[in-house]
Amino acid sequence: MKVYISFGSNIGDREYQINEALRKLEQIQDTKLLAVSSLYETVPVGGVEQDDFLNGAAVVETSLTPISFLNEIQRIELELGRERKIHWGPRTIDLDVLLIDEIVIEHDRLKVPHPFMHERSFVLIPLAEIASEAVHPVLNKKIRELVTMDPEVRQYK
Ligand code: ATP
Ligand code: CA
Ligand code: CA
Ligand code: CA
Repeated sequence: MKVYISFGSNIGDREYQINEALRKLEQIQDTKLLAVSSLYETVPVGGVEQDDFLNGAAVVETSLTPISFLNEIQRIELELGRERKIHWGPRTIDLDVLLIDEIVIEHDRLKVPHPFMHERSFVLIPLAEIASEAVHPVLNKKIRELVTMDPEVRQYK
């Protein structure tokens, strides 16, 4: 299956942590990194006062089950020093599953499509670079139909 992932970092060496996360994604068993977007610098949303994020998106091909894949990305977050203190607060790395093929999952630990992806331009703008034709199976729309410009999401690299 193809898994579309968003990543973000806003503490410490953001680029280093993102590069480490991508390297670790590539090393997950039975998983191949297919594409990575460019990076965007993003003003935080959600009301917590914190530094700007670097955000991007990636797509992998994996033969793991969805929950096994989630376990792997949560391990990577912990290895990169992720602490879960403030909801929507600062973090060394955040890895979210956005889409898995066109399947819908309603599990306590894993909701796919990610429930907020369609309203977040810091998710949709990088995702559109690598998956403009991918379909959101609940909204029945392609990513290119969901994405809109946002001056608070600036091309970084
Ligand atoms: P948001 O989900 O709004 O982006 P967040 O990324 O800050 O918020 P976290 O604290 O990183 O939230 O994750 C909380 C829980 O969300 C995790 O323990 C995980 O099991 C669950 N979760 C549900 N659906 C997903 C998904 N699609 N991708 C990643 N985690 C998910
Ligand atoms: Ca690999
Ligand atoms: Ca998130
Ligand atoms: Ca998360």
